[in-house]
Amino acid sequence: LTSGLESAWNKLKGEEVLTKENIAEPMRDIRRALLEADVSLPVVRRFVQAVSDQAVGTGLIRGVRPDQQLVKIVKDELVKLMGGEVSELAFAKSGPTVILLAGLQGVGKTTVCAKLALYLKKQGKSCMLIAGDVYRPAAIDQLVILGEQVGVPVYAAGTEIKPADIARQGLEEAKKKNVDVVIMDTAGRLQIDKGMMDELKEVKRVLNPTEVLLVVDAMTGQEAAALVTTFNVEIGITGAILTKLDGDSRGGAALSVKEVSGKPIKLVGRGERMEDLEPFYPDRMAGRVLGMGDVLSFVEKAQEVMRQEDAEELQKKIMSAKFDFNDFLKQTRAVARMGSVSRVIGMIPGMGKVTPAQIREAEKSLKVMESMIEAMTPEEREKPELLAESATRRKRIAQESGKTEQQVSQLVSQLFQMRVRMKNLMGVMEGGSLPALNN
Ligand code: GDP
Ligand code: MG
Repeated sequence: LTSGLESAWNKLKGEEVLTKENIAEPMRDIRRALLEADVSLPVVRRFVQAVSDQAVGTGLIRGVRPDQQLVKIVKDELVKLMGGEVSELAFAKSGPTVILLAGLQGVGKTTVCAKLALYLKKQGKSCMLIAGDVYRPAAIDQLVILGEQVGVPVYAAGTEIKPADIARQGLEEAKKKNVDVVIMDTAGRLQIDKGMMDELKEVKRVLNPTEVLLVVDAMTGQEAAALVTTFNVEIGITGAILTKLDGDSRGGAALSVKEVSGKPIKLVGRGERMEDLEPFYPDRMAGRVLGMGDVLSFVEKAQEVMRQEDAEELQKKIMSAKFDFNDFLKQTRAVARMGSVSRVIGMIPGMGKVTPAQIREAEKSLKVMESMIEAMTPEEREKPELLAESATRRKRIAQESGKTEQQVSQLVSQLFQMRVRMKNLMGVMEGGSLPALNN
């Protein structure tokens, strides 16, 4: 998205004012950039129209170049498109607040249940979860385990019961226990179907929830608009939670939700960890979409990357020369995440600018590494020695990941080099030699 927009801005350099004529080409770029970011077409159309109207209608501001002015208008419109302000969760005035989660399969509903409970617990609220996915026993177990992890009780009644009945029983239990917030997990399907909608309607009728939040995977892309519309029309939602924003999604879903449903995104999930849930800031998201970022999310990102416990665990591994491919992957991903953040660094005066090409390059080589590591068995990931010792194993990984044997060897060497470098860094000199790769 960024590079498309950059060319849009560049086309305005040297112009005096914004006119219908001179914004035509930048607007085409913006349009294309948004479509490439998976924003749905009707949303793009309305957005481009709104920006064009504003741009032409706005007089020249002294000291502001037209291209800067257009950036500002686009940014402001993006923020508006996503609802403007942060939307807080609503709480019931009396009795427990009930939050019903809905969404397709695999989007992160069950994870969000526990994350949200932890999030609210930190605000001093007591929570209870209801296991409403009765189609897969594993789903109930998953919620029970996550509940334990965040220290929140889970109401489960097995799989031989209708979700609406579980909802009723769970709610009663919550009232008895005087719980502040009840969060109900539900089953998802791969696609929207009538059975799922009817079931949700029934559950909603029983619970009379304060919030009905649609959980949307940020990677959904173009289909997000239709998805949100259907759930909103059929069930009636009060907002959305956007998950997996830590992945390389292009942000399209974030831009469509509010526009098509009138309901805001309230929270975003940024990782698999229970702590990775935060409020949705339209302003920051607009910054991210524009590739400008902002210093605030930069600071947060940096903290996220260097989480204390992670660092400590890593240090232990390094000291005992156990640094393996799992750690390698974690580490490399952390660095890659910092890479996208470096665009922000570029905006801080006095700091060097990292070019988009460099970032793309880094992201590409991460993908290559990931595919090779994915082709390894768990044992190979934990014992990279196995790969150093066996050319047969390296060959198999090369074949499975579609990379060359040379690339695999390189990756293995890289891991051992990292071990040595890190050991040296820590001042531990013993055992620091590089093993040769056997054939
Ligand atoms: P459900 O089918 O909607 O209940 O989805 P789950 O909660 O079971 O999540 C599906 C997968 O997505 C799990 O492996 C989660 O760990 C993962 N997941 C959920 N939220 C996030 C997120 O914000 N970031 C990432 N990277 N993974 C997530
Ligand atoms: Mg689930």
